[in-house]
Amino acid sequence: MKVTYLEHSGFVIEDGKRAYVFDYWKDPAGVIDTLVEQGYELHVFVSHIHHDHYVKSIFKYLPYIHSIWYHEDVPALRDVRKQIQHIVTVKEEANTASLVLERINNDCTTDIQTVSEENITDELVQQVFSLHSMAVGDTLEADDITVTMFGSTDAGGSFLVDTGTHRIFHAGDLNWWHWSGDTPENIAEAKALKEKEFAPLTGLSVDIMMFPVDARLEVAREWGALEVLGLMDTKLFIPMHANGPTWVPSDTFRHTYPTQRCWIPEQPGDAVVEEVK
Ligand SMILES: [Zn+2]
Repeated sequence: MKVTYLEHSGFVIEDGKRAYVFDYWKDPAGVIDTLVEQGYELHVFVSHIHHDHYVKSIFKYLPYIHSIWYHEDVPALRDVRKQIQHIVTVKEEANTASLVLERINNDCTTDIQTVSEENITDELVQQVFSLHSMAVGDTLEADDITVTMFGSTDAGGSFLVDTGTHRIFHAGDLNWWHWSGDTPENIAEAKALKEKEFAPLTGLSVDIMMFPVDARLEVAREWGALEVLGLMDTKLFIPMHANGPTWVPSDTFRHTYPTQRCWIPEQPGDAVVEEVK
């Protein structure tokens, strides 16, 4: 699997055929454009509705999207439907429109002769583009992927994705949000919340983990990562959600996990290959 950094919490993990896209926000390096030109199938994951984790412009890639997995608060179904309506009514997008119509006619069991705004139903959208609305605690299987949604200490959830060859964890906004300057009550609440939401991760083992190391937390920047790596057996740790300078593991981190492999992307488009035997 090749992991490519998009921006912020956005990553693409691909195996030569399928590309798993996590929390797309921006893609200044044009990573996804290149993948769709190469004929990749896109499988899209949205952990929650915050603007830095979900933008509906991801659906400009609709003709290439084979499944969409999202927290139930994300209006993905509505936005995909709107996008299809836009595509079939706006003439300039003739090429995209014909690709979408082809998908609908290939994948749809109900016989549709012409696709119009009226017959683009939620059922049709869900069936053709394989939309999966998830709540925390759900495990779903489709398209040869098994996806479990774990909790968050902010909005939405976090994802454990088993692709059949790799187990991938993307934390979304799950973190120990310890803000030093906050009130003692809020600090205690953040601690209690991370204890509650981290607990179900105990004993999991994953090949690739993407987890926030937010610079705005200052002294507590790594606290969430330090905790979660103690709970989960993680082959490759990838920091995200930097909101500031690139993370450099502290001496504490290195002494606590001397053998932990980390890959720290610096620029959009940076990539690493992670093989699993
Ligand atoms: Zn966030």
